[in-house]
Amino acid sequence: MEINWTEIENKWRSKWIENKDFETNPNKKPKKFITVAYPYPNSPQHIGHGRTYTLADVHARFYRMQGYNVLFPMAFHYTGTPILGMAKRVEANDKELIDNLKNLYGVPEESIKEFVEPIKIADYFHEEIKTGMIEMGYSIDWRREFTTIDPVYSKFIEWQINTLRAKNLIIQGSHPVGWCPKDQNPVSQHDTLGDVEPDFTEYILIKFKFDDYIIPTATLRPETIFGVVNLWVNPEIIYKKITVDDEKWIVSQECAYKLEFLDKKIAYDGEIKGSELIGKSVTVPHREESIVMLPASFVESGTGTGMVMSVPAHAPFDYQALEDIKKDQPEPELASKVNQIIPISIIETEGYGKIPAKEAVEKFGVADQNDPKLEEATKEVYGKEFYGGKLKSNTEKFSGIKVAYAKDIIKEWLIENKHADILLELTNTPVKCRCGAECVVKVLNNQWFLNYGDKDWKELATKCFDSMNILPQEIRSEFNYVIGWLRERACARQHGLGTKLPWDEGWIVESLSDSVIYMAYYTISKFVNNKTITADNLSKEFFDYIFLEKGDANKISEITKMSIDTINEIKKEFQYFYPVDSRHSGRDLVPNHLTFFVLNHVAIFPESNWPKEIVVNGSVLMNGSKMSKSMGNIIPLRKAIQDYGADPIRLAIIISAELLQDADFNMESVSGIRNKLESLYHECSRLKAEKIENLEAEDRWILSKTQSMISQVTSAIEKMRLREALHDILFSFESDLSWYMKRVNAKNRENISGILHQINSTRVAMLSPFAPHIAEEMWEKLGHSGFASTSKWPEFSQEKIDAIAIQAEELLKSTIDDIINILKVTKITPQKITIYTTDSFKSKVYCSILEKVMAGQTNMGVVMKELIANPDTSDVKKNPNFVQKTIKDILSEPTEIRQTKLESKEFDEKSFLANELTKLGKEEFSVEIQVFSESDSDIYDPKGKARHARPFKPAILIE
Ligand SMILES: [Zn+2]
Repeated sequence: MEINWTEIENKWRSKWIENKDFETNPNKKPKKFITVAYPYPNSPQHIGHGRTYTLADVHARFYRMQGYNVLFPMAFHYTGTPILGMAKRVEANDKELIDNLKNLYGVPEESIKEFVEPIKIADYFHEEIKTGMIEMGYSIDWRREFTTIDPVYSKFIEWQINTLRAKNLIIQGSHPVGWCPKDQNPVSQHDTLGDVEPDFTEYILIKFKFDDYIIPTATLRPETIFGVVNLWVNPEIIYKKITVDDEKWIVSQECAYKLEFLDKKIAYDGEIKGSELIGKSVTVPHREESIVMLPASFVESGTGTGMVMSVPAHAPFDYQALEDIKKDQPEPELASKVNQIIPISIIETEGYGKIPAKEAVEKFGVADQNDPKLEEATKEVYGKEFYGGKLKSNTEKFSGIKVAYAKDIIKEWLIENKHADILLELTNTPVKCRCGAECVVKVLNNQWFLNYGDKDWKELATKCFDSMNILPQEIRSEFNYVIGWLRERACARQHGLGTKLPWDEGWIVESLSDSVIYMAYYTISKFVNNKTITADNLSKEFFDYIFLEKGDANKISEITKMSIDTINEIKKEFQYFYPVDSRHSGRDLVPNHLTFFVLNHVAIFPESNWPKEIVVNGSVLMNGSKMSKSMGNIIPLRKAIQDYGADPIRLAIIISAELLQDADFNMESVSGIRNKLESLYHECSRLKAEKIENLEAEDRWILSKTQSMISQVTSAIEKMRLREALHDILFSFESDLSWYMKRVNAKNRENISGILHQINSTRVAMLSPFAPHIAEEMWEKLGHSGFASTSKWPEFSQEKIDAIAIQAEELLKSTIDDIINILKVTKITPQKITIYTTDSFKSKVYCSILEKVMAGQTNMGVVMKELIANPDTSDVKKNPNFVQKTIKDILSEPTEIRQTKLESKEFDEKSFLANELTKLGKEEFSVEIQVFSESDSDIYDPKGKARHARPFKPAILIE
């Protein structure tokens, strides 16, 4: 019978809403505050987005069943330029975008027409995403929903920004930022196509003199200026003559364009061909000395200035280019200049001779200057010299300085003497803005920055990270790394939606700065939505009082026109729910949002309100590939829910990977999960809560196994190892159940409905955080009143584990396996099977050996000696082989099994096997099975097999 998923899911969703199950208010219970990064409503959710929210929802539902008062809220991030950019593209009738909206996302044409207004886009997708979240069954308290352009939220952000500024953590100055020249706005990860963070590096421009002009060359190694012997110019490039402030420079066109954004006045004066420069001389900046300009094809116009200074002793490219020219046999005048060039060695490094570049070129077998192996050779020389090199005496006053320190010292010296300048360049080009334009680095003046470079601030954040739970553990070092390199970050933009800087209204707080402490706002947004708090009269004092416990309620009541009781109720709400117990997010937000979240919390809140935990998950692949519009493999979440049901999708997302791995989603796994859930559902429909009486061996065993499952699942979820937990509930336990059914069927038992009912009630309760809708339906079918989602999480109880039952069942299984193996090897059709269990002496010795092994003694000789020393076991000296095999038996088992064996000392193998194996064996092998103890007087043992019996390893005779 097919299940109508839509019907079931709708039914339970409306019951949850009716029951206000997820509306959370402060109460006497302990609380958990779980949050996820709120979405940008500029497109509908696809399956990939579903992962983080689903993981967080399982987490919230798990804690709720564990008896916590769980707050799991949601809001929508309208701030920033992505929505603006999209509106512009709609206005410009961008065909690709409109096709995607229509065909991929199913947006009605009337709505698309309205999308020229950015806010209509946000509102449309806001509703779309929210509906999807409801349809996924997320247990969200929707009374607390807000958007980041709500007036009260803006007041909150003003307070946040003012508070940071008062602590001198917001500064104004000139700093470089990633920049969209078309939008005239800074760009960060959220603003770029493919969500890449613009990354840039600083080159030192060394100024060589050429008549009235300056020819600047870009380098990352200013110390090598002492080893320059020529310049490289690409004869194919047409260079620009430009005026930079009051100097005349010759650079490539690309370089001139980059300089325009670096706070310099640029005027274009003319052009000069690279070939015209070849053979002419320039003067090095720091001493009166001429060097020649030579042709090189490895020089690119897009990198640096399009000219390169040549240090052949230490730069493999330069060394190779010189070799290439010599081979090319240039005209005599140039050839004589080339022949005069001798590499100047300026760095001494252990393991290198005089000319490291030459050694590296030879080692890597470089063919010419266009050989990609030169990159590797360069990396190797640079690395060794940087960490192990020292400057030689020909570097004048810098002689003896380690290269690692020399870079900054020489840079300062060059700039002070006007011999050098700075060029900032993107290292991960091309970075494209969402508007399509290629981004550059710009030095912004009078820009507002969060001073994330501040040492004290970093220290405080590190302290918070150190005390935090970070899941999975292996991501912790990434946070340390981010904190290490973080520097000033622009926090305001001149365009976009959001909150204006309170002290400089030409600026808007950007999207990665107004989304860092908003979790606190969830504790008051309920009062905003019911109109208790309005934007009028909200002042700094109000927020200080609520969030920082500063100030006087009387005064705040006067200012805000709210009653003291109301103000204190709001404050209590915050104090109850804060701090954040768990923050969930995708891995891509580690280097920005998640780190900023911690930085801003430690800056604003006292330590008692610092966040407790971060949970990071990997992304979602579709059939092994990255999801993207161009791949055409994006499945909108709501469409998938319609086709397959929310629960199968939730489970397929979870079961395909552990936390940090990329989850590989595919429709076959959704169908597989769906079938699994359907069969569990049908099973639950059949079971009745009958009384459980007269437990048999297999009953005690399966009930013990159920306890183990509870323990494993609970501890897995606590570590957010959800894949493992779900696998245990749905699949691993299934093999135990089928063994149980085999045992029960062999005995023709009919009184097991009560036991199966109890077991499946436990499973369904544990399934409920993962597959909340169908679990409710199963729960109802099992005859329980109330909701599975609000039922108590099954509790593990050590007393309910029956060690003997577990041991006995393991013995039974392994004996049957042994019989099957013997039959396989001997290929006989059995007429009769005889089993011999061990005598009581061997059991005694076994226990004694087990105790010794558990205490750490595994040395055969020592164990033997100890056994012989004891009169009870001294007879074992006649059978050393037994001792050796027993130690091996024990060591081949996991510690838990050894532990249960230690606990099940008085287990009687013979009577158990006589009772249980005979029936089951007959079913399995269609023959009579007889069981003897090796010490039985009436024993049937024609082949003398009995003496081989060992505890838990009976001897077997098949005839
Ligand atoms: Zn742009």
